[in-house]
Amino acid sequence: MARMRVFYATQFVLSLPAGHRFPMGKYQLLRDRLVAEVPGVRLGQALPASDGELALVHTPAYISGISDGSVDAKVMREIGFPWSEAMAERARRSVGATISACRSAFADGVAANIAGGTHHAYADKGGGFCVFNDAAVASRLMQAEARRSQRATLRIAIIDLDVHQGNGTARIFRDDESVFTLSMHGQKNFPFRKEASDLDVNLPDGCRDDDYLHALEGALDELDRRFEPRLVIYLAGADPHEGDRLGRLKLTWDGLEARDRRVFDWAWQRRIPVAMAMAGGYGTRIEDTVQAQINTFKVAAQYAARWQNQPR
Ligand SMILES: [Zn+2]
Repeated sequence: MARMRVFYATQFVLSLPAGHRFPMGKYQLLRDRLVAEVPGVRLGQALPASDGELALVHTPAYISGISDGSVDAKVMREIGFPWSEAMAERARRSVGATISACRSAFADGVAANIAGGTHHAYADKGGGFCVFNDAAVASRLMQAEARRSQRATLRIAIIDLDVHQGNGTARIFRDDESVFTLSMHGQKNFPFRKEASDLDVNLPDGCRDDDYLHALEGALDELDRRFEPRLVIYLAGADPHEGDRLGRLKLTWDGLEARDRRVFDWAWQRRIPVAMAMAGGYGTRIEDTVQAQINTFKVAAQYAARWQNQPR
């Protein structure tokens, strides 16, 4: 049976004020259902990213501010979580999970982080439930390791299909030609001041399956023309689903699954390993968000099997 390594930090649960809109419970629900329903999943506990790893992207002042709680109150308000040691630890481990998923993707073809996709985090500040930018730190670390071992530049595409723009990621890699940032997002949705990704696809409110999949096809074609990645980091946000409170799009279950299948297929055809992070999901019913994400993992597991069954 094919294996798919999945990294988690679900033991760090933030205690949020009553009525807080972040669905902290989704990670444990997702983990439980993964074990029960997706054969081949091998869970691994995420290690915390070190200061040195975080500093590949983040400023020393921001890293220490998050670590000891001295970070500006305004920055914490923009992140949207109250500061606690558990919050800081969880943020580090979420980065560590994406790092591990990248390493495992090189070995197994496909691997994942149960959390992560914290794309609103900039070098010197967080925002929108994002503390550190996991995909950005993992990208820079994988590139540093490739330079050391192969003396080569590792080209990475970050395919961000969370419904919100990956503004932090876009800004971090604005002047970096070795990382291609693709973001497909609701034009009128948060963040209201957007950054320039290498490729931005703005979607109208109420966008449905057909239009969405057509736009995705065009985006992948353009990515193909402009860039040749050797690793894909896929942010598979569940928030384009029609049952999402914050998404403003109207994708069905089938539409989301077709989206995931298209991304994994695109990468598989080119034999590009995929590390996946979950990114956002704010279903009116938390079960719907978990369902969307389980569906994504089931597609991912099918592609892990293809990788591992190919003739060598
Ligand atoms: Zn989102």
